[in-house]
Amino acid sequence: MKKVIIIGGGFAGVWSALGAMRLRRFHNKEGDIEITLINKDDYHGMRPRFYEQDLSEVRVPLEKILTPVGIKYKLGEVLQIDHAAQKIQLENTSSELEIMEYDRLILAAGSHLYTPPILGLSTYGFNVDTYAAAEHLAIHLNSLPHKPAKGQYTLVVVGGGFTGVEAATDFIDRLRNIAPNKENVRVIVLDHNEIASSLGHEPQAVIQKAFRDLNIETRTNVHVSKIEPDHVVLDSGEVIDTQTVVWTAGMRASSLAKMFSTELDKVGRLPVDSFLRIKGIANCFAAGDVAAAMTDETHRALQSCQHAMPQGRVAGHNVIADLLGKSLVPYEQRKFVVCIDLGSWGALFAEGWEQRVVAEGKEAKKIKNWINRDRIYPPMDGDMEKLLEAAAPVFRVIETKKI
Ligand SMILES: Cc1cc2nc3c(=O)[nH]c(=O)nc-3n(C[C@H](O)[C@H](O)[C@H](O)COP(=O)(O)OP(=O)(O)OC[C@H]3O[C@@H](n4cnc5c(N)ncnc54)[C@H](O)[C@@H]3O)c2cc1C
Repeated sequence: MKKVIIIGGGFAGVWSALGAMRLRRFHNKEGDIEITLINKDDYHGMRPRFYEQDLSEVRVPLEKILTPVGIKYKLGEVLQIDHAAQKIQLENTSSELEIMEYDRLILAAGSHLYTPPILGLSTYGFNVDTYAAAEHLAIHLNSLPHKPAKGQYTLVVVGGGFTGVEAATDFIDRLRNIAPNKENVRVIVLDHNEIASSLGHEPQAVIQKAFRDLNIETRTNVHVSKIEPDHVVLDSGEVIDTQTVVWTAGMRASSLAKMFSTELDKVGRLPVDSFLRIKGIANCFAAGDVAAAMTDETHRALQSCQHAMPQGRVAGHNVIADLLGKSLVPYEQRKFVVCIDLGSWGALFAEGWEQRVVAEGKEAKKIKNWINRDRIYPPMDGDMEKLLEAAAPVFRVIETKKI
């Protein structure tokens, strides 16, 4: 029996597992290849939704997706990968160490928020990177009416990238619903650069308009020096009274990428070839936030579910094709879109790497709602055919006219 192990139950991992199962079934290799997905917890987490107020549907039990198609899954945290010996070590739910051998491995362990060693950040900072962190923040926000008055309804978002912008525009309405007097609510977004500096001019202009209309303040070209329970100190000398600092600045690939003797990119991702094989490492593939894949001749994939999902489908397909000596399919994703939630103001939707805005406000919000509540979910009715069909290694273009 050949063994395929997939590390991670996020977008890349789940779609890798489904993609692998689809090809195993196509070749009738049920008795010859075992596919196992390992994840830290029981859920496929919809990270792009963790900034939302209602967290009830932002996690899907892995069992609901994997069991109907016969994929084994194991709970545990992978601690070591020995790629020369083709073994991994994991800590299971009973805190025991286990060794598992593989014939092919897909690393899909994703990324985590980058938190620099700033005084007070780990103690007083909040974030929306994980479900647990999002829940912790929600509890804190709901408790604000019982907190001291100093900076009570001022929320500081650190990082004006995609996540910071979505979080700030959502939080301003949440706070206005929580505060007895809406006038006391302030949301301030800080960035060491400009706001949304990684985006093009058109999306930036839409974000500025939304911030103006929602009364969101900004501070640009500043760094946080220190976070205290009731204020934050900036390197400009400004002190902002607040009890809620939400850190969103930067993501880093899983540290499991460091287990491979190869050079990583500046966010810690592994170099992969067009088939998503880790360069220079036998029998190992990588997909999602942990892989520095090219989407076409000139563009590198972003750490996004937009890229993680199709990469998963391709890596899953290829791992089985590779085991069976069949031809591999290249990963390619020519169309790039940007869809950013802007709270009650709406959203923005831009197309192409030049990021031309094609919809904004309420019209774009319809697209964002569809992406966040439908597009990023696997089929949920437990139908094996639908799950496997959705895992075909083909790139699905968003057709906005149909939404
Ligand atoms: C608030 C927020 C908003 C976002 N908004 C968007 C957006 O609008 N559009 C977009 O495209 N992207 C967005 N993203 C980014 C997107 O969520 C990620 O790019 C995506 O989740 C990457 O998928 P992944 O499968 O590579 O990794 P992840 O989703 O991080 O999944 C990795 C999985 O691996 C598991 N794991 C990690 N380490 C181990 C280990 N050692 N052992 C076992 N299991 C392990 C984790 O538990 C997790 O289940 C957002 C992210 C955040 C946090």
